[in-house]
Amino acid sequence: IRGIDFIRDPRLNKGMAFSLEERQALGIHGLIPPRFKSQEEQVKLCKENVERYQEDLNKYIYLVGLQDRNERLFYRLIAENVEQMMPLVYTPTVGLACQKFGLIYRRPRGLFITIHDKGHIYQVLRNWPEPDVRAIVVTDGERILGLGDLGAYGMGIPVGKLALYTALAGIKPHHCLPILLDVGTNTQSLLDDPYYIGLRHKRVQGPEYDEFLDEFMQAIVRRYGQNTLIQFEDFANHNAFRLLAKYRDRYCTFNDDIQGTAAVAVAGILASLRITKSKLSDHKFLFLGAGEAALGIAMLITQAMVKHDNVTAEEAASRIFLSDSKGLLVKTRSKDVSAQKQIFLKDLPHLTDFAQMIEAVKPTAILGAAAARGAFNTGIIKRMAELNERPIIFALSNPTSKAECTAAEAYEHTDGRAIFASGSPFPNFEWKGKTFVPGQGNNAYIFPGVSLAVIASGIHHISEDVFLLSAQTLANIVTQEDLDAGRLYPPLTEIQNVSVIIAKKIMEDAYEKGEATTYPEPANKEEFLRAQLYYHKYSKALPKMYTWPSV
Ligand code: NAP
Ligand code: MN
Repeated sequence: IRGIDFIRDPRLNKGMAFSLEERQALGIHGLIPPRFKSQEEQVKLCKENVERYQEDLNKYIYLVGLQDRNERLFYRLIAENVEQMMPLVYTPTVGLACQKFGLIYRRPRGLFITIHDKGHIYQVLRNWPEPDVRAIVVTDGERILGLGDLGAYGMGIPVGKLALYTALAGIKPHHCLPILLDVGTNTQSLLDDPYYIGLRHKRVQGPEYDEFLDEFMQAIVRRYGQNTLIQFEDFANHNAFRLLAKYRDRYCTFNDDIQGTAAVAVAGILASLRITKSKLSDHKFLFLGAGEAALGIAMLITQAMVKHDNVTAEEAASRIFLSDSKGLLVKTRSKDVSAQKQIFLKDLPHLTDFAQMIEAVKPTAILGAAAARGAFNTGIIKRMAELNERPIIFALSNPTSKAECTAAEAYEHTDGRAIFASGSPFPNFEWKGKTFVPGQGNNAYIFPGVSLAVIASGIHHISEDVFLLSAQTLANIVTQEDLDAGRLYPPLTEIQNVSVIIAKKIMEDAYEKGEATTYPEPANKEEFLRAQLYYHKYSKALPKMYTWPSV
């Protein structure tokens, strides 16, 4: 293409960074101001624009606009300012964006496939303009962060996650496809919302839903191949575990809320062992929540204990206590709870009060994944500080408004002794002359690297080992300096490097086990990975010219 279309295409547009030669050759001379800018100057200007907005939602709208206008500039801005930009394109602001999605919707991004398209999903997929999709993030919008059923407004999540695929793991934008499966919503306020963009009826469930999902999975591999990575995101509990079990051996898939969360939380726990100088099996873990996140973490801790501390799965599980909205998971509830939870049932009274559970269990660690804001109240945190020299307190629920406690509360009520992590970011906390840097136990440390490895080495089925290995790798990257500041995770400025290191480890393991299919096997895996990362700096818009000898 030539002329104005070159500026209108966000993949090609460079704004005022086009050179005079490019402007003339492409037929865009005069269409942009006579000033020539470097990309660095543009990044600086974009930052200033973001900062001018008071409200986070407006910052989000600005960034989405930038992504639609100039893709490389958008990714460079995010990649070089992760700490500032990630909370905008991802949790917590993306939660707000999803709630207001109908209001702020401007240009299409991602693919909407509805239950009415059943029987024609392949046809819809063919409308996606990119032929070489390698990774899909899909949601049906039923459990968006801790915000509940947002229906088609949930599209913000796959879009945001895939922006991180590119910004944090260098997966090329045209390899990524965000998908929203619209089967309706059960949220009455959305059904009544004049701005709502989705199907205006209750969720379709049961066999029709299952057939729809089956057809979706088949259509994806028919269109993009058996190797296409399909990341499930923010499905409700009753579908998440079921679909994972159903598809994990047949497709290249994982559920980030179960498996990604597990990996990042276990990484944080492994890092905290370095502070407490203890073994995993020295601890007792009490969860508020027994859903995708909590159960996923519980299962991965079990696996880690079996592997590191040489105990049986039963012994490991005996140190892990879960509770849901009906109370502690105890043996008398065995008929009401799913198969995966059975191993965690305890011979204890059916307690319903979390403070009582703490007395009964005397945990060394409490982990919140119930989207129950404030559930770790002053009394609970103080009690943890009495029971433990260094109490481990993870408030994992997103967005920030759903966190079980704030970083400030955790540090203050334990006199600075808490080992704290949260799902959404909290600001640094000053306490008695010391600065605490709360770690963000967020999946963003894990899923980009996992996906990079899976795509680059052609892994067909993603095993649980991948997540344990990711957790160990992440925990090992944490430095003593990080730990001293109370930080259980590497700084966000390191996150791209973290992604590559995790990917490299997974790749090495996959080739060793014969699970990789990209041949020939790259001798130097890290080099191989780095060579294919997305390059967010501009390249020349004109081909390299050469001359002939005069004839
Ligand atoms: P989920 O599968 O729906 O599970 C929620 C669990 O919390 C259920 O077991 C539920 O009990 C329980 N619960 C709800 N209210 C409760 C209360 N007041 N007291 C005790 N338990 C209660 O959801 P999920 O996928 O696990 O997600 C939960 C939260 O974790 C969300 O806020 C999500 O954003 C967050 N999360 C964070 C990360 C991260 O990166 N840090 C990753 C994934 C998820 P019932 O089973 O009885 O309903
Ligand atoms: Mn999620």
